[in-house]
Amino acid sequence: MRIVLLGPPGSGKGTQAQKLGRNLGLPHVGMGDMLREALKNRTSLGERAKEFMDSGKLVPDSIILELLGERMKGTKEGFILDGFPRTLEQAKRLGALLEKERENLDAVINLKVREETILRRLPGRLVCSECGKVYQRANLSSSTQRCPSCGAPLLSRTDDVSDTLKKRIEIYLEHTHPLIDYYKKKGILQDVSGEGNPQEVFDRIVKILN
Ligand SMILES: [Zn+2]
Repeated sequence: MRIVLLGPPGSGKGTQAQKLGRNLGLPHVGMGDMLREALKNRTSLGERAKEFMDSGKLVPDSIILELLGERMKGTKEGFILDGFPRTLEQAKRLGALLEKERENLDAVINLKVREETILRRLPGRLVCSECGKVYQRANLSSSTQRCPSCGAPLLSRTDDVSDTLKKRIEIYLEHTHPLIDYYKKKGILQDVSGEGNPQEVFDRIVKILN
């Protein structure tokens, strides 16, 4: 099965992707993790990505797609993709990449969460000032002050966190709207409520996939 998980920052998307990967025996391919790994291992793609990151630029799609292509070579049985695609352009390029391998996506899970719910989940969370990734304080070592995914400072004061998150959610919705339409037209989009506890959300996803 080839599954894409979509959801705004704070929707619990990463947690669900991990759970789903374990449950279905499929690799969880997180874009942030993949990039971090490439940087750590100093692969040639990682080095190229680093140049952009060091100069404060976004890593271009072409590099991300190459990374993804490499990663997917070992995933004939399928994958859970989390953090990619983020734009319509990326979705089309992912489609082309899969088509080349005569593969296609089975489902795109769109986690829907109300903004109030995301903000209510905030106490004890840290949010990245740059990429908007949300972390549980308990899951990071106490000395961590920077985003493990992109290296930017983490915000912990509730008002900073909520301002940053509100902005991130807005940007997210703006960018993913065309993406969601695109997958809807392909007939593979599945809206799933992200309200409730992680197990409840997980049960909903599994029910839809069965
Ligand atoms: Zn970050």
